[in-house]
Amino acid sequence: MSYIYYFIIIVFIKYQSFMYSFQNRTAVIATMHQKEKVIAPLLEKALGLYSVPIQSFDTDQFGTFSGEIERPASQLETLRMKCQQGFSFAPPDVNICIASEGAFGAHPTLPFIPLDIEMVMLIDKEQNLEVVGQSMSTETNFAQIVSTSWEEIEQFATQIGFPSHALIIKSMYSPQIFKGINQKNQLKNIVYQVLKTEKCLRVETDMRAMYNPTRMKVIQQATENLIDRLQSPCPQCGVLGFGKTEVRLGLPCANCSLPTTQILANIWECANCHFVKEVLYPTGQTEADPMYCSFCNP
Ligand SMILES: [Zn+2]
Ligand SMILES: [Zn+2]
Repeated sequence: MSYIYYFIIIVFIKYQSFMYSFQNRTAVIATMHQKEKVIAPLLEKALGLYSVPIQSFDTDQFGTFSGEIERPASQLETLRMKCQQGFSFAPPDVNICIASEGAFGAHPTLPFIPLDIEMVMLIDKEQNLEVVGQSMSTETNFAQIVSTSWEEIEQFATQIGFPSHALIIKSMYSPQIFKGINQKNQLKNIVYQVLKTEKCLRVETDMRAMYNPTRMKVIQQATENLIDRLQSPCPQCGVLGFGKTEVRLGLPCANCSLPTTQILANIWECANCHFVKEVLYPTGQTEADPMYCSFCNP
């Protein structure tokens, strides 16, 4: 008798994942930097989920990259706060909210290489789901300089992909800030205007998504990862959201077998029950080229 009972439970867990649906439902996107332009079409194509941006949603309260407002919490926690606030702007029949949050900094193992970490979260109150997609990329123009000369600033602008990627000019001595600069004349005028009264100024890449196509591409990758997870039930509990959360480096060197900076394994984790699976050699390689070995090729 009890065997049948367990059997029914197992069948239910196995097939529960097929009951999840986003088809023909509507979500709100809590964004103000036009991220919906990459997020919405992907969700609609893969899941049949329609999403609309919240009009006049102010995400600056959750921190700005240019530093005027500090981010209130960790990247993941801030993302959750954005989603929660998004719901308060959503029509009463909408139970899904999507938000995105990026972080820039130094690469954990390659200290002089900048890294862009993008996360996209979907919360579905009806199906009691919270799933996060993530993408990390060293392809970012994240950079800043302090300069006294137009020539140097012009050269920096070329390096970071100006004018398709915008710049920010900041005074070193006052809160004065100019954002979203994406025309050469405009840049030149601002630089000369500030340098008239101040010895030097700070130039930063504008990391807001609509001013930064390179970042927009990483947000797209994070959305694709979110969609993968929304289509992937956990082998343990059946809840959606099983997916790659971590990359483990340390593929052994083909010459000396010491760990290198190449990928050894992908770690998959369930957002619900935290079941973890290690997928060894995801790139198909079981040994690394000695050029990546700090012992053989220091
Ligand atoms: Zn080696
Ligand atoms: Zn699970």
